[in-house]
Amino acid sequence: MNQNDLSIFNERESEVRSYVRGFPTVFHKAKGYKLWDLDNTEYIDFFSGAGALNYGHNDDNMKQKLLEYIQEDGITHSLDMASKAKGEFLKKFHEVILKPRNLDYKVMFPGPTGTNTVESALKLARKVTGRTNVISFTNGFHGMTIGALSVTGNAFKRKGAGVPLQHSVTMPFDNYIQNTSQEIEYMERLLDDNGSGVDTPAAIILETVQGEGGLNAARMEWLQSVEKVCRKRGILLIIDDVQAGVGRTGTFFSFEPAGIKPDIVCLSKSIGGNGSPLALTLIHPEYDVFEPGEHNGTFRGNNMAFVTATEALNYWTDDRLEKNVQEKSEKIHKFLNDMIQKYPQIKGTHRGRGFMQGIASEVDGLADKVAAKCFEHGLIMETAGPDDEVFKLFPPITIDDEGLDKGLAILEKAIEEVAKGKNLVTS
Ligand code: PMP
Repeated sequence: MNQNDLSIFNERESEVRSYVRGFPTVFHKAKGYKLWDLDNTEYIDFFSGAGALNYGHNDDNMKQKLLEYIQEDGITHSLDMASKAKGEFLKKFHEVILKPRNLDYKVMFPGPTGTNTVESALKLARKVTGRTNVISFTNGFHGMTIGALSVTGNAFKRKGAGVPLQHSVTMPFDNYIQNTSQEIEYMERLLDDNGSGVDTPAAIILETVQGEGGLNAARMEWLQSVEKVCRKRGILLIIDDVQAGVGRTGTFFSFEPAGIKPDIVCLSKSIGGNGSPLALTLIHPEYDVFEPGEHNGTFRGNNMAFVTATEALNYWTDDRLEKNVQEKSEKIHKFLNDMIQKYPQIKGTHRGRGFMQGIASEVDGLADKVAAKCFEHGLIMETAGPDDEVFKLFPPITIDDEGLDKGLAILEKAIEEVAKGKNLVTS
């Protein structure tokens, strides 16, 4: 009998399930950059739990700390009461992450997901400014609850809301109007023109590299210009670092190379360290204006996630991981450019930066075919973009050379097979 029998999922789980359709097997074990299914088939992970597993699976040190915590009956659930695990996390996060970067933020714990931190950020910005409108960008993605969807670009996801998505205005992201650099000018004109119909917003929310929207990486100058737009008009700048943060682009926060100081930062996914749910909303102290309990939630302060999150911060006490990510990012960049040259049939363009790079293909359905071939050959990888036109390399940032080379070799094999396939319809 095939151990990886999917019938229970097909019969009993909702049609809404999606990743299982791209990776149709039953996963069982995982370590570092590898996963195994019930038949013991090995898969290389170029997906990293959509960014929740930046440090790979079952990191030895995090696992050890968690086992010890459970063994000593450490408190698991405590809403926003004070707990030892939370205190240790707050202290270390301040010392290892915020202080060395000269960032002064109060830490709010919303519910444990990315969309939870985004909702809290939007509410807070509206409360601080007394304004309702929020500016977001083309191809931005911020989550599935109504507020987060209202600042998300994807038409399919927006339609799922079932109600009008309001109180937001979409502006062109960097390079949306290609090769013009006019996006900022356009936004400023609309903001300052009394006839534009655009109300001064409470906040501008953006991802520095758009994860779901197709790995569009904003230039540092563009990010600096957005910050200036905000400062000039008293608009709060929210950076959604849920996917691009926690080292994914080579620095802890994705916005560090731009030297900007957002008013609110949204973090989730890998902040918990080992895939445990945890989210933070980082708030400039001046804007820390929610009344006690004005925004709450039962699953704030996941103590087991605090334990692994605190341990994970040891990766940031020196610059080894940062350097490693930056070096390997160049290797990935070179590999992708080579693929674009070697296989012109795929009509590819390089996208992204750091450990969130990929290729956008003009050939309809090609990215999905490449991802499917990768799975056949033992690599899991997803696609991104409004038409799933980008295949997206998302290895754990802790991957070693051997793992990265093995994964890239599988990816090349997949690209080659798809590029040479009979069914490659070029548009
Ligand atoms: N913001 C960004 C940038 C994201 O990539 C995601 C998830 N892909 C979210 C918010 C929402 O996170 P969650 O799925 O945990 O609600």
